Amino acid sequence: MRRVSASAVSGSAVSMEGLTKVFATGVQAVDGLNLQVAAGEFVVLVGPSGCGKTTALRMVAGLETITSGSLRFGDRVVNDVSPRQRDVAMVFQNYALYPHLTVAQNIGFSLENKKVPRAERDRRVREAAGVLGLGDLLGRRPGQLSGGQRQRVAMGRAIVREPAVFLMDEPLSNLDAKLRVQMRSEILRVQQRLGEARGTASLYVTHDQTEAMTMGDRVAVLRAGVLEQCGTPRELYERPASLFVGSFIGSPAMNLYEAALEREAVVMGSQRIPVPGAAGRPGREGLAAYQGRKVIVGVRPEDLVVRAGAGSGAGSSEEEAGLAADVRLVEALGSEQLVHFTMDAPQVHADETVSEADVDDEVGGSEGDRVAAGGILAAPAANGVAVTPPRVPVRAGDRVRFTIDPEALYF
Ligand code: ATP
Repeated sequence: MRRVSASAVSGSAVSMEGLTKVFATGVQAVDGLNLQVAAGEFVVLVGPSGCGKTTALRMVAGLETITSGSLRFGDRVVNDVSPRQRDVAMVFQNYALYPHLTVAQNIGFSLENKKVPRAERDRRVREAAGVLGLGDLLGRRPGQLSGGQRQRVAMGRAIVREPAVFLMDEPLSNLDAKLRVQMRSEILRVQQRLGEARGTASLYVTHDQTEAMTMGDRVAVLRAGVLEQCGTPRELYERPASLFVGSFIGSPAMNLYEAALEREAVVMGSQRIPVPGAAGRPGREGLAAYQGRKVIVGVRPEDLVVRAGAGSGAGSSEEEAGLAADVRLVEALGSEQLVHFTMDAPQVHADETVSEADVDDEVGGSEGDRVAAGGILAAPAANGVAVTPPRVPVRAGDRVRFTIDPEALYF
């Protein structure tokens, strides 16, 4: 897959500057959003329910008025340009196809409205259908199609217009897991063709961080209407700019603990991770100021390694290196195992720290959504999760030791 570099944003196809939406109810759904999408680029807007993703997308589409800030397509300010004149196509989660029209008629509908000559229309419909694997279904009606095929028709309807800006709002959320994965690559293929042919810029909304990370050239993380960070998937994973991004990106979510930073170690409850020259060593200079103070340490589940022979628990002495943990639950997922554990270390939930930091900022989002976004565990009393290869012999009730490369710790 091609990757558009972050520097490609000069000469952006879409440019949002200080884009803000305050609804008549007083809800500030989007707060000073600065985001650029380059020609040919695929940017994903991700965040928990109610964070303002859909509202931002609707402002770009022209379906929602802009309270303040500016929206430009190329050099042109389009704040007050009607949706029809914006050269934008949008695919929604709940796409509505015309039930009495065939697939071909559904796909070509907008072209007929625009009085595109018949031959040209047929060519574009056939081409879109070909890209989406609908070539053999052009004569069918929506009622005779599967959910995935219907979603493809909705995509087809958008791409025949060959828009300058392609907007998608959770287009895959009604599909089953397998189809969703398949459609991801199809959407990227379609977008790539549009990008090459017309320089189409794509903006895609989802609450699913896996979808965001696997699809986006760049990913923009939104929380409570505010852009927390925008970068390549790799940048977000390796250098999260905030606790929120650190815990939102990655599945299962990062384990967070309160810790004391000592000279040569990080101490979390009764756990001690030796970190040679902990504070002030290259790349971690900023930590020096926190020496002797409380910090929050992030441990990615995939960075915890079960020490060989640690499964039975017999004879493991407290002096032994590594983190001592009691296994509560093991979920075998086929290609990997999730090991839910408890260890003597004070766990921190990203949402707690978030609400402590700025209580007034919380906008929408049910408790259930936030718990899901933070990846809080299913196992009773567990305060951490590790991902291991499928055949590592651990069972619920075992006492294990984990090792972790100090380089893999997030502070
Ligand atoms: P979801 O993933 O659940 O769709 P979202 O991130 O897309 O969420 P939005 O739909 O943009 O979030 O909503 C952002 C905030 O604005 C929410 O608090 C929502 O309740 C509020 N909101 C959305 N539409 C309106 C409206 N028409 N009038 C008033 N408030 C609204």
